[in-house]
Amino acid sequence: MVTGVIDKGRPAAVAAWSAVMGRDGGARRWQEAVLAADEAINGFVEVDAARAAPGPGAAERGSDTGGGQMLAGVPFAVKDNIAVEGFSLSCGSALLRGLAAPYTATAVARLQRAGAHVVGKTNLDEFGMGSSSEHSCFGAVRNPWDATVVAGGSSGGSAAVVAAGLVPFALGSDTGGSVRQPASFCGVYGLKPTYGAVSRFGLVAYASSLDVIGVTAADAATARAAFETMRGVDQFDQSSVDYPAPAAAAASDRLVVGIPEDVLDGVDPAVRRALQAVRGRLEEAGIRCVPVQLGSLEYVVPAYYVIATAEASANLARYDGVRYGVRDGYASADAEEMTIAARSAGFGAEVKLRILVGTYVLRSGFQEQYYQRAQRIRTLIRRSFEHAFGEVDLLLMPTFPVPPFARGDAGLDAFQQKQGDLFTCTANLTGHPALSVPGIVDGGLPIGVQFMAPYFREDLLFQAAALLAAQTEAPRPPGYLGPHSLLAEDG
Ligand code: GLN
Repeated sequence: MVTGVIDKGRPAAVAAWSAVMGRDGGARRWQEAVLAADEAINGFVEVDAARAAPGPGAAERGSDTGGGQMLAGVPFAVKDNIAVEGFSLSCGSALLRGLAAPYTATAVARLQRAGAHVVGKTNLDEFGMGSSSEHSCFGAVRNPWDATVVAGGSSGGSAAVVAAGLVPFALGSDTGGSVRQPASFCGVYGLKPTYGAVSRFGLVAYASSLDVIGVTAADAATARAAFETMRGVDQFDQSSVDYPAPAAAAASDRLVVGIPEDVLDGVDPAVRRALQAVRGRLEEAGIRCVPVQLGSLEYVVPAYYVIATAEASANLARYDGVRYGVRDGYASADAEEMTIAARSAGFGAEVKLRILVGTYVLRSGFQEQYYQRAQRIRTLIRRSFEHAFGEVDLLLMPTFPVPPFARGDAGLDAFQQKQGDLFTCTANLTGHPALSVPGIVDGGLPIGVQFMAPYFREDLLFQAAALLAAQTEAPRPPGYLGPHSLLAEDG
């Protein structure tokens, strides 16, 4: 076991996990157990507990706000669209399959400097586009609670491996809900930080004005430790920001949580039950819950998909078959033909659709009609949330309007999945931080709900989560592994 670390304030789960890896042969035994458990889930695209040496530059890029060796010896997984030197960086795409990252993302380097170890890369919807983690060149992720149900997406692998107790936390990316929605579907915590709070250096760009690196975790304290370690300005990301000193936390009995009842039309009864349950627990903890008006969220999804696809079409233009891409089976003297062949063979259908939509909305003569209009809607949405945060400390709303849905044709179609993003993608359009927390288990499946906070007030999100966690244990799926059973196994 790693000794001599600063144990003060170390989450209990973190200490247990570092014991799992620190004992004799611990990493090897972890790997055997995890590879066996992951067969049912398909959450990992690569597992290697032995490769995890912090790359050069990890020390320089360390965070000044990090908690020393808070995470010493703790294993974590990273979504396969975030670079970790020497590990896969496929983005779930046939176009990048086999690519090894030449450097390490700043967020990962900071966790490594705090003593945490990357042990694998996780499965995802191709380039982060999707809400089900079914669109991956590695096949679909399966929900650890029920293999016939999706894990959510696009960071479905990161949520599933945490829920199954294979790692204490995993990094994901959240452009429109991709950390929070799978966290909700798998019964774990999922944080989308304030835009700019965590460096995006080393995250493969989907839609740059919306993208944030976030974290899924088995408990709120671990999510907080990972976030505190990652956050802060980074010279390699010009949109990263210096964090203002946290304002003094309000006493719990002074916190006011707003529930936007005016936007809950069409929300599934089971999701409403989750919201009610969490509301009841908050009130029991002395927190006042009040109704707030957000106005309509009707234009959130159209605005999000115009902006996200426009930015994606520009970001994905770099995959031209020259620097990246599968090239076997064709050789051409014509550069355009080569690019067409690489993109036709490499991209999946959903990615192609989004590039087409993005190119369409940016076409000359159309920008005023789509992109600029979407940006104006974005400003209006931001104003209505800022107004709400003038009245309440936190907002509480569904993470996703329906419970975890079936995989394949029995589930939601691609259009319905996009419509379901309305509660999550607001936080990406406005830049506010948001945290999905476990709510209830209904019909054997977990349903989470989401808190949103003012800019840079992740501390309020964690304060609410800690109050809830003190009342209810996080739910666990059948077959949950976890540090304690790993430690118990053969003594
Ligand atoms: N479902 C959304 C989309 O497909 C969210 C994706 C994300 O956050 N990466 O765009």
